[in-house]
Amino acid sequence: MTARHLTLAGIATVGLAGVALLWPLRPHRVAFTPNRNRNVLLVTIDTLRADALGAYGGQAATPNLDRLAAEGVRFTDAHAHSVVTLPSHTSILTGLYPFSHGVRDNSGYRLAPGATTLATVLKHVGYATGAFVGAFPLDARWGLNQGFDDYDDHYGNTNRIGDLLMPERRAEVVVAAATAWIRQQPDTWAAWVHVYDPHAPYRPPAPFDQQYAGNPYAGEVAYTDRALGPLLDLARSGPRGTLIVVTADHGEALGSHGEQTHGLFAYEPTLHVPFIVDVTDRAHALGASPSDLPVRHVDILPTVLDALGVAAPNGLPGRSILRALDEGDSTPPPSYFESLSPFLNRGWAPLTGVVVGHEKYIDLPIPELYDLATDPGEEHNLLPARDDRRRVLEGRLRDTGWPGTNATGARVQENAEVRSRLQALGYVSGSTVPKARYTDDDDPKRLVELDRMIQEGVNLFQTGRAREALALSEQLIRRRPSMSSSRLHAAFLRWALGDPAGAIETLREALRAGADAPDVRIQLGIYLAEGGSPQEAVRLLDPLQREAFPDLDGLNGLGIALSHLGRQAEALAVFDRILQLDPNNAGAHQNKGTVYLTQGKLAEARESLARALQRDPDLPVALNGMGVVELKSGNARAGIEAWKRAVQVDSRQYDTLFNLGVTLLDMGEREAARQYFEQFVRTAPPAFYRKDIENVRATLRRLAQESKK
Ligand SMILES: [Zn+2]
Repeated sequence: MTARHLTLAGIATVGLAGVALLWPLRPHRVAFTPNRNRNVLLVTIDTLRADALGAYGGQAATPNLDRLAAEGVRFTDAHAHSVVTLPSHTSILTGLYPFSHGVRDNSGYRLAPGATTLATVLKHVGYATGAFVGAFPLDARWGLNQGFDDYDDHYGNTNRIGDLLMPERRAEVVVAAATAWIRQQPDTWAAWVHVYDPHAPYRPPAPFDQQYAGNPYAGEVAYTDRALGPLLDLARSGPRGTLIVVTADHGEALGSHGEQTHGLFAYEPTLHVPFIVDVTDRAHALGASPSDLPVRHVDILPTVLDALGVAAPNGLPGRSILRALDEGDSTPPPSYFESLSPFLNRGWAPLTGVVVGHEKYIDLPIPELYDLATDPGEEHNLLPARDDRRRVLEGRLRDTGWPGTNATGARVQENAEVRSRLQALGYVSGSTVPKARYTDDDDPKRLVELDRMIQEGVNLFQTGRAREALALSEQLIRRRPSMSSSRLHAAFLRWALGDPAGAIETLREALRAGADAPDVRIQLGIYLAEGGSPQEAVRLLDPLQREAFPDLDGLNGLGIALSHLGRQAEALAVFDRILQLDPNNAGAHQNKGTVYLTQGKLAEARESLARALQRDPDLPVALNGMGVVELKSGNARAGIEAWKRAVQVDSRQYDTLFNLGVTLLDMGEREAARQYFEQFVRTAPPAFYRKDIENVRATLRRLAQESKK
C-alpha cells in the first residue's frame, strides 16, 4: 500500500511539472492588469529612423521621448511592414499585413468600408476616439477615419492643380488640436496623433535650424520631440492611467544603399522603427528596458486591446507585446515586409520579404539574405551560398499568409488633385502593366541611380526649376524607355512650361516606343482635348465610357473634347456620369457650367459654376466662367472681380487675361487694361494665341500713341 501511494504521488508530481512546462498558467503581473479605465495614446512619427532618437543613440536631443523610453519599455528590434506612409499606418491600425488589409501604396487604394480597426473596436466598447494627422497621405478619403468620432485632417487646403504647396502641418499644430480634444473628454479616450515633420524636405524651424545646421533631419526630429512634450505630459496627468505607444511608420534611408529617402528598398534604415510602450498607471516595471523582444506593427492592436482587457478580433497575425514580455516569450515571430511603390508606379520588380529573429530575407530577382546580428548594415548578402537558409525563410514568408507578389489588388484611379498633392510631397505615381516575369534588370538594386534621378526631378520641380526637371526626365526616358512615369512627368512639365505641342508629342512618342500604360493614353487624350485635337481625343478617351470605374479626369477630358466638337448634349451626359460616380467632382461641375455658357444658358451656367466654386473656391476656369456669367447678367464689377481672382490663383489663365484687358478697356480703365494686355502678350503661348497676341500688340501700340497725345 505504502509503495503504491508513493508511486501515485510520484506520477502526480511528474505530471504536474509536465503540465506547467507546456502550459504556463502564471497569473499576470500587476504591471499590466487589463484595465478598461485606461486611456490610449498612439503616436506615430513619420519617417523616424529608430537610431535618430537620443534614447537609441541618435544625434538629436529628444528629452521627451527619452523620458518615455526610460519610464516605459524601449524596444530595439521593431519592424514595420511597409516603407510608405498609408500602407504602414493601415497595418498599425488594423493589425493586418498589407496583403490582408489591401492598401499597398499611398495612392490607388482605400481601406474597405466596414473594416475592423483599433478605432472601431475601441469605439464599440465605449471609448471616445480621436485622430489628428499631419499630412495628406493620411487624409480621411483613404478610409483610416473609420471608427474615429473625430478625424482631424485639416492640414491646410490646397486644391490648386500643379501648385508647389505642401499639404502638411507642423507637429505643434497637430499636438495643439489633439490636446484640446483630450481635455474635452469626460470619459476614457483613445487618441491617435500623427506628426509628419521628419519627412523630407528637412526644414526645421528655429532654433533647430541653427542648432542642427549640419544635420537638418536631426533638427526636425529634435523639433518633433519638443512639440510632443505637452501631449506626453497631458497623457501622464489626470486621474486615469494611459497606455502610450510611440512608433514610426517607417524610417529614412539617408544614403544607405544609395537610397536617399524611403519607399524604394526595405533595408533596416527604413524598415527598422523606434518602438516605445508605457502604461502610466502600472504597479511596477513592465519589463527590462531596453528590450530586444522582436516586435512588429501588427502587434500594436493586440497589445492595446490586451492592456484594456478587450478581446482582439480573430485571425490577427500579431500578439500582445505586454503578454510576451510578461511570459518571457523568446520565440521570434516572422515579420512580413514589402516595398511595392516602385513595382506599382514604375514597373520594377516587386520587393517582399521576411525578418525572423536575426535573419532577413528579401525576395527579389537577385535575392538577398542577411544576418542582422553580425551584419547590421546589410552589406554581406549570404546568397547564393546559404541557399539552405533561403529555403527555410521562404517557408516562413509563406507562413505569414503572403499570397505572392501578383496579388496586389485593383488600383483606383486618383484624380488630378490627389496626384498633384501627392507629387507636392514627393510621391510620383504612375500605372504599369505587370510583367509575367521580372529579371535582374528589373531589380531595384540595379535601378537605384534612376531612383536618385527621379527624386532629384521632384526636388527640382518643387523648387520651381521646371526646365532642369524636364532635362532630367528626358535622361530618364533614355535610360529606361519602358518606364511610362518618366514620359508622363516630361509631358506634364512641358505642358506646365507652356509647350502643349511638346507635351502631346512626348506621349505620342511614348506609345510608339511601347511605354503603353493606361495613364499614358488617358493623359494624351486629356491634352489633345484641351490642345486643339478634339477628334483624336474622343477616339482615345471614348472607351472610358464603357468602364465600370473609369478615370474621372479622362472622362472630363472626353466631355471637353465633345464640347469642342459642338456635341454639347453628349458632353453634358459625360459630365453627369462623372457626377453620378463622384457628386463632389468640381471639374465636372465647372465643365458643365462652361457648356451651358456656350449654349447661352446663363442660369444653368451660374448654378453649375457656383457648385464648382463651392467645392473649390480657387478653380480658375470656373472663376473665369463666373466672370462671363456676371458680365452677361449686367454685373460688370462682379465679373471683373471673379476674373481678377482667376488670374491671381493661376497666372496661366490666358483667356481671362485677354477678357480682362478687353472689358477694362471697354469700361474706360485704360491703365488696368494695359497691364493685363501686357501680361497676356508676355505669357500666352503663341501656339494657341498667335492671332490674339498680334491683335493685343496692335492695341497696346495704339494705347501708347494715344497716351503720348
Ligand atoms: Zn511616412
